[in-house]
Amino acid sequence: MSGQWTTQTFRLNTGYKIPAVGLGTWQSKPGEVKDAVRDALLAGYRHIDTALAYGNEKEVGEGIKESGIPREKIWITTKLDNPWHKRVKEGIASSLDSLGVNYVDLYLMHWPCSSDPADENLHTAFPDWDFIDTWREMEKIPESQARNIGVSNFDITQLNRLLRTAKTIPAVNQIELHPNNPTPKVTKFCAEKGIHCTAYSCLGSTDSPLAKDQTLAGIASKHGRSTQQVLLAWGLQHGYSVIPKSVTKSRIVANFQVDGLVLEDEDLKVLNALPDRFKVCGDSWLPHKIFLDRPE
Ligand code: NDP
Repeated sequence: MSGQWTTQTFRLNTGYKIPAVGLGTWQSKPGEVKDAVRDALLAGYRHIDTALAYGNEKEVGEGIKESGIPREKIWITTKLDNPWHKRVKEGIASSLDSLGVNYVDLYLMHWPCSSDPADENLHTAFPDWDFIDTWREMEKIPESQARNIGVSNFDITQLNRLLRTAKTIPAVNQIELHPNNPTPKVTKFCAEKGIHCTAYSCLGSTDSPLAKDQTLAGIASKHGRSTQQVLLAWGLQHGYSVIPKSVTKSRIVANFQVDGLVLEDEDLKVLNALPDRFKVCGDSWLPHKIFLDRPE
């Protein structure tokens, strides 16, 4: 393992290659996300993760343009929002329009759960619609608009249901992955089915307890790296692409300085055995429970 993470890609089941390290943009507010995206691209990132639900696609697109990096050199992921499950065609068109691009590299179903927009609290799912129906509509998106389609927040149960009728196997399942939520059963299942996993909240998200973890700090100090860099290496060495979010230029740059960092088997063993468990993204705000198999 060379650990040349910043130029590494992971080959998807479609043949497309997703850059191993990307920039996350959840909670990156208008007014800061454009600069973050531009700074990331200028620091060498070639993978940006956004979503309609983040309300920042327009500024993400502006940041991309401001960087001057040619569109075709950048991997862009965005996601179909829950209230748009019955309007897939409009959803992708809206995202492309906001981003100011002709295509995205990856279009994900954000959650395996629709929300009827008629309920302003988004607590009601469409009674006559299933994520299987959403996937069928996503399969119709031309490659000229989305090079790859995939899912997010899917457990084994939902993946099994999807795969029973899917004509296209999802290229990616984007799920929460960090040493305190390692999710080994789902990631093993995805590997067996040829579905690449992208690790979200890979640093443990806002106010991450992992930032203060002493075991992690010890491993970081041994390698002369930061805790965050070790967390990224943990994901990368498991074969996941990682999408750390930051709107702080120095952190954006530092999170991309992971080349040459290869954790030893002993480090991975220790990290995989951390006793604490936490999960950033829950499902209580959704119309129904979706995390059936987790935490593991
Ligand atoms: P991350 O695990 O990436 O952590 C982000 C937090 O860590 C921010 O508070 C950031 O602060 C801070 N941070 C970043 N770098 C450093 C550093 N070097 N040192 C100290 N602190 C640091 O959290 P996210 O939950 O945002 O996950 C990453 C991305 O995954 C999201 O942005 C989004 O793109 C995606 N995601 C997808 C989900 C889905 O449902 N598919 C759900 C959740 C996330 P600051 O910005 O102030 O620098």
